Amino acid sequence: MICLPVYMDNHATTRTDPRVIEAMLPFFTQKYGNPASRTHVFGWEAEEAVKQARESVATLIGAGPREIIFTSGATESNNLALKGAAWAYRDKGNHIVSVVTEHPSVLDPLKRLEQEGYQVTFLTVDRDGLITADQVAEAITPKTILVSVMAANNEIGVLQPLEAVGKLCKERGVLFHTDATQAVGKIPIDVEEMGVDLLSLSAHKFYGPKGVGALYVRKRNPYVRLLPLLDGGGHEQGLRSGTLPTPLIVGLGKACDIARSEMPEEADRVGKLRDRLWLGLSRRLEDVILNGHPTRRLPGNLNVSFPYIRADALLVALRNLAVSSGSACTSAEVRPSHVLLALGMDEDLAHASVRFGLGRFNTEAEVDWAVEYVAEAVTKLRQLNPLYQMTRHTSRERSA
Ligand SMILES: *Cc1c(COP(=O)(O)O)cnc(C)c1O
Repeated sequence: MICLPVYMDNHATTRTDPRVIEAMLPFFTQKYGNPASRTHVFGWEAEEAVKQARESVATLIGAGPREIIFTSGATESNNLALKGAAWAYRDKGNHIVSVVTEHPSVLDPLKRLEQEGYQVTFLTVDRDGLITADQVAEAITPKTILVSVMAANNEIGVLQPLEAVGKLCKERGVLFHTDATQAVGKIPIDVEEMGVDLLSLSAHKFYGPKGVGALYVRKRNPYVRLLPLLDGGGHEQGLRSGTLPTPLIVGLGKACDIARSEMPEEADRVGKLRDRLWLGLSRRLEDVILNGHPTRRLPGNLNVSFPYIRADALLVALRNLAVSSGSACTSAEVRPSHVLLALGMDEDLAHASVRFGLGRFNTEAEVDWAVEYVAEAVTKLRQLNPLYQMTRHTSRERSA
């Protein structure tokens, strides 16, 4: 028994875990104090809850609680990390190294910094979507102050070699930021082991509430300086002014606790579901292409191209399945994903790509249903494509 529609778009956002909601509720109703209020019990209990959540976030990534700055999400964390570090270290240099497949919330702040006179080197990726530490080494100059490489890609799920990049950055005395929004809560992340100085995360990507995230800012070896984006009451060590959203922060903390205790089993289960989906689709359909590295990827990610169809037409046909396509609607036109193009894929194939994001609440029954549902829709759309019919005929003639 499955319930329609089925959600397989867990890279866009996840359902809030009921245990997270339960933990948050008292902080809307009875315990609604401002954690900055020092003069009464409402403030004290909110402050205590924020303190505990801060420890939960820190523990999940191997950091100390004073190194966690609460933000509104990963977009803000990325902006604070990149602009904050670029501004603070302007006297040291003006060069930044990043990657072409980063999330827009990294690419766009970097473009803004370019307008301010910073220079950014965007590394290209190989056909699997990966960079190497050697590429970073070659890009670093005496003026480099910061390297920003994402942990896991939000479209193709591939995992960049953080540990090697972190080690290199330490050797060269350059700060290392990682957008770990898709990785945190899904795979082990440790800022010490990975040599990370700044790390962005967001609660709603791992079963927490929307509108809250954190930036990890290293406090020793080295002490990382940042300039804030917001000025005001001086909250979060002056790096993020504004009243702390206690319920959301409690939710983030709870999501971290759950992730920490359930990660190994969950990664294994979700990984098997993803493999089952891939196996099912590739058995039921000819011409299915897996995008991104086959094994160095998030457990829940499957990004595939179905040649001879348009993903936007497919998604319309799949009204009972929530997945997303390899295209992004900008203001006027539909553009193929910059990530898929960076793999060297042509535009037609990029437009034929679908991202499946499996997660905590998906079941085997849903996967089996989705295989049939997608295979039928793809087959039907291909039958309507004369180009596909032509290639069928020629390949049949050739084999005859
Ligand atoms: C979702 C996402 C973001 C943005 O996170 P928000 O909390 O929604 O601002 C940034 N980077 C990556 C890789 C993401 O997947």
